[in-house]
Amino acid sequence: MHDIYEPDIALFDDLQDVVRDLARAYGYQHIEIPVLEDKDLFVRSVGLDTDMVEKEMYVLKTRGRDILALRPEGTAGVARAYIQNGFMYMPQPVKLWYWGPMFRYENPQAGRYRQHIQAGFEFLGADNPIADAETMQLAVRIGESFGLKNVCVYLNSIGCSACRVSYRKALKAYYRTKSRKLCSDCKRRLHTNALRLLDCKNETCMMFRKDAPETLGYLCKDCSAHFKKVLEFLDEMKINYFLDPYLVRGLDYYNQTVFELKAIPSQQQPVDGHEQQKEPLSFGGGGRYDYLMKMLGGPDTTAVGFALGIDRMVEIAKQEQVKAKKQNPRVYVIQMGDIARTKALQMLDMLRAQGIFAGFDLCRDSIKAQFRSADRLGVRYALIIGQKEVVDHEVLIRDMETGIQESIPEEKMIEALKERLRLARKDKINHTFYGVPS
Ligand SMILES: [Zn+2]
Ligand SMILES: [Zn+2]
Repeated sequence: MHDIYEPDIALFDDLQDVVRDLARAYGYQHIEIPVLEDKDLFVRSVGLDTDMVEKEMYVLKTRGRDILALRPEGTAGVARAYIQNGFMYMPQPVKLWYWGPMFRYENPQAGRYRQHIQAGFEFLGADNPIADAETMQLAVRIGESFGLKNVCVYLNSIGCSACRVSYRKALKAYYRTKSRKLCSDCKRRLHTNALRLLDCKNETCMMFRKDAPETLGYLCKDCSAHFKKVLEFLDEMKINYFLDPYLVRGLDYYNQTVFELKAIPSQQQPVDGHEQQKEPLSFGGGGRYDYLMKMLGGPDTTAVGFALGIDRMVEIAKQEQVKAKKQNPRVYVIQMGDIARTKALQMLDMLRAQGIFAGFDLCRDSIKAQFRSADRLGVRYALIIGQKEVVDHEVLIRDMETGIQESIPEEKMIEALKERLRLARKDKINHTFYGVPS
């Protein structure tokens, strides 16, 4: 079983802050959807002939004979919630975001977990190409704000149901000539869903892909115009993007724009999308899914969205030496003896009420050990309270840098401390400014 804790959890927490802040800035409402859904929901939306549903889903039967599945992804659940809770009767568009665990059955190996976290953003009731561009911009900004370098979008258009008919025909004709050499999955896909041939990870199948017909050559007038607009918006927003003519994202619900998010490792800057030695790491993806609501029995609703692989983003951040934004306490409360301990508890309450982050260890008796903890945290001031201070209603403020300590009346403590912290900060800025090491 895989647990996440310090120091990695600090990066997860930072990323969650970034996701929450940007979701708010882009006008998304938070939604919590259940981990368990009817298996049928994923069969109808993601599609039966996908690895996700066919091979990687945890399915269970309840005593009441319901067949449930641990969610492999979030979009289907959000679409179900949209229909079930009457979001369609609210002013459109509706923007929803979620964060939570997804499940994928596989043999656990390094870096691939059966449970992993995804954050997702669904922009529902939006058909304008600006929505596609806005969505990609949000995804890129989340990656950048978290500290990932060279974040870019790989995108393609897979057209609508109308233009896909001729593309599928061309694709089938191309692959039929290679069918003997295809893997067993692809032999089947040739008859069930030819688009998925492009997703195959088998080496021989991947080799055939580079000469396969490209989706963009088969787009109808509307799809072509939509995609052109999306690219124009991306240009104007200065989003770093590359066209990937074979990107199809193998889930049934996508149409038109599909995209993946990648962070190119800092050693290898891209010259163009196709000239790289190492595959850049993908950390998320999405696209338009105008048919999904209908597929689930809801009203016609255009939509676009994406999901981020949170564990993958943290992994990339670690490789790129992104440091967690750790907040250390600014003061440390040191107590001596039982009466002082009680007093310290009250003092800590006062400090918290004033927004002053204080370190403490009330279980410790040794003053030396408490000073060591204060030193380790790098706090500038220690507040010391012993039996004498309790009786005299006073507290000692010790400057940990100079060793000077001063006795202050209890009621003046907050004021005195704030003044010192303010001066200490100013001091630090001046030192940095003149290049003197602080
Ligand atoms: Zn079309
Ligand atoms: Zn294959």
